Amino acid sequence: MAPTIAEIAAAPLRHPEALGRPQVGPASWDPQGLMHPLSNDRAFAGQAERFAPPWGEVVCVATASDGTFGVGMTSQAGPVVPVINDFFAPMLAGEPAAATGKHWNMMVRSSNSAYGASGLASFAISAVDLALWDLRGKLLGVPVYELIGGPARDRTRCYATGNDLADLRDRGFEAFKLACQVGPAAATAGIEQTERLVAGARSELGPDADIMLDCWPVLDASYAVRIGEALAPYRLTWIEDYAQPDDWDGYADVRRRLPSATLAAGERWYTDRTFARVAQQRLVDVLQPDVQWVGGATAVLKIAAIAAAADLELAIHGACNDSYGQHLSHGIPGNRWAEMFVGCGPGESLMAAWRSTPGMALPRDGWLVPSDAPGFGIDVTRDQLQAAVA
Ligand SMILES: [Mg+2]
Repeated sequence: MAPTIAEIAAAPLRHPEALGRPQVGPASWDPQGLMHPLSNDRAFAGQAERFAPPWGEVVCVATASDGTFGVGMTSQAGPVVPVINDFFAPMLAGEPAAATGKHWNMMVRSSNSAYGASGLASFAISAVDLALWDLRGKLLGVPVYELIGGPARDRTRCYATGNDLADLRDRGFEAFKLACQVGPAAATAGIEQTERLVAGARSELGPDADIMLDCWPVLDASYAVRIGEALAPYRLTWIEDYAQPDDWDGYADVRRRLPSATLAAGERWYTDRTFARVAQQRLVDVLQPDVQWVGGATAVLKIAAIAAAADLELAIHGACNDSYGQHLSHGIPGNRWAEMFVGCGPGESLMAAWRSTPGMALPRDGWLVPSDAPGFGIDVTRDQLQAAVA
């Protein structure tokens, strides 16, 4: 008889070192704390911590009736853990262990009818879905990138996100995404500062290097247009996250007013329906779902189909930073890039970069080949999982 789901259990990750992640202090997109959700207003300057959610990561373990287990991860543990343990776990107990599409549908529709399937609910769905895909691959003895029709290529090109170009180049990367460090509160001086950042990178890296700019979703449409116009001469590969996630009129406005810029967004969009709407309206050129936030591997596969049908690019957010993104980017033909967010200092292992998973591959010379172990290749014992959440 095919294995069934015996148990799904989530807990806050308290000891990341038990999962092989070196502790080097909190990873930060912006070590100077200049950009945060309220940084459009000078009154909140320097208050990044005040607006950061206090919750850490989640470890979700799905165990089959034969004892095989899979591991899913996400963040925002405080509200997410009870959604999983109190609602999804009893709902899915006894289901066929490999029926990931059915499980996803049950979680999304039941959430939608009760409190919505976006936002925090989507984090909970992601963790369970990833644990179940890891379990499915382990039950079948096949890496997830093969389960989804890959590999799509021998190796995937990486780009590094961060502003320490010397360190990122030392690590072998040749494509880079810079972090915009000032927003509308800095007015015209902020646009000049951003232009200096991009101009410096272009002159250092040469005319052919791929350079992207991530603006953090705190701009508004008119400021994003001013930045886009100022940066046109530097031929950015794309401009990312330039409006608040639900500012749909803003995205349409920027698209209309920057007709030749390549625009990217999606790490803070949830559910496949949101991406279907974005694709239909052609609000951006590059869709960037985050596998730990958008609804897991099942959601990313649906979004990949939407992107392919609309002939839009898929660039999974942080694809190189965990085993989940690594397997999906390796298995999906439309995903050409694997992003490595480097939130650790020079000389520190990329396992400390951000949300690494045990046993995952690290990029070499700017290229990624994921682990070929079954499931997502998450190499962890029950004892290590116990220690991680103890
Ligand atoms: Mg981003």
